[in-house]
Amino acid sequence: MIEADLLRRFLFESAPLRGHWVRLSRAWIEAREHQHLPAPALALLGESLAAVALFSASLKFKGTLTLQLEGSSGPVSMLVAQATDERTLRGVAHVAEGATGGEAFAELVVGGRLVVSVEQGGGVTAWQGIVPLDGQSLAQCLERYFAVSEQLPTMIVLAANAEGAAGLLLQKLPTPESQGEGAAAAVQDVWEEATALLGTLGGDELLATEPAELLRRLFGSHDLRLFDGEPVRFACRCSRERVASMLRGLGAAEVDSIIAEQGAVTVTCEFCQRPYRFDGVDAQRLFAQGCRPARAVRL
Ligand SMILES: [Zn+2]
Repeated sequence: MIEADLLRRFLFESAPLRGHWVRLSRAWIEAREHQHLPAPALALLGESLAAVALFSASLKFKGTLTLQLEGSSGPVSMLVAQATDERTLRGVAHVAEGATGGEAFAELVVGGRLVVSVEQGGGVTAWQGIVPLDGQSLAQCLERYFAVSEQLPTMIVLAANAEGAAGLLLQKLPTPESQGEGAAAAVQDVWEEATALLGTLGGDELLATEPAELLRRLFGSHDLRLFDGEPVRFACRCSRERVASMLRGLGAAEVDSIIAEQGAVTVTCEFCQRPYRFDGVDAQRLFAQGCRPARAVRL
C-alpha cells in the first residue's frame, strides 16, 4: 500500500527550492462518490482536488482555498475544488448535458478562466487570482497562475484515476540579494535541472510511487529533507445554517411560493448530496429572525 491521504512537504538542503507532495485515496473516493461524472471529467476533478491540497500547504491562517473553472464552453462547464487549513477537501463539477468530446484538457475545458481564491473566516476574500484557461493541462494553467499572481517559478505534476489522485509541486523561492549574482545563477542551474527531471515524471509513476522513493528517483543527486505527512480527508462544510442563510438571500416571497407549490423547500448540497428540508414553519422562523441582506453563499 502506498502512503495515501497525506500531504508531505520537502525542501532542497542546498538551494531555495521547496515542494509539496500529496496522494489521495480514501479522501478522493469519498469526494467523487457524490459526483456522477464521465471518466475524463472525474480525472480533472481528482487533479483539481490534488492541486488544492498541495496549495493548502501554504495557507498560513484559518481559511478556505478554492480553485474554480468557470465560463468554459467545453463539456466541463463548471468545476470547484476546495481545501481548508485543516486539510479537508471537497469538490463538484458539472458536465454539459449531452456533451461529447475527447479526454484531453483542452477538449474538456474550452475557454473560460481559472480563479484561485482564499477566503478567511466570515466569508472575507483575502485574495484572488485569475488566469485564462488556455493551457494544455490543468497543471500548466496553475503554473501560469503562480507565475502571474505570486511571481514564484512553479512546476506542477498532477494525476488522477478512479482510485487515486496525486500531485507534486516544486517551487523556486527568491535567492537573497546579499548572496550575490553567482549564488542566484547557481540556484537557477539547480532549478533548471530539477524541472527538467520533473518533466520526465508521468502520471502513472506519480500515482504509484512512495514519496521518498519518488524524490530519490527524481532528485537523488541532491540532499533533500522530506517532512512527516499531514492527513488529508474529505469533509463537506455545508450546514443547515448556511442553507438558511442562502434561503434568506432568496427572500420570503420566493421561499413562500416554493412552499405553497411543493409543501417544502429542499436544498441538496452539491458537494455531498445531503438534503436540507425547510417546511412552512421553518420558513416562518427563518424570516422572523430578521432578514439579512442577500448575498451569494456557497454551502
Ligand atoms: Zn455538503
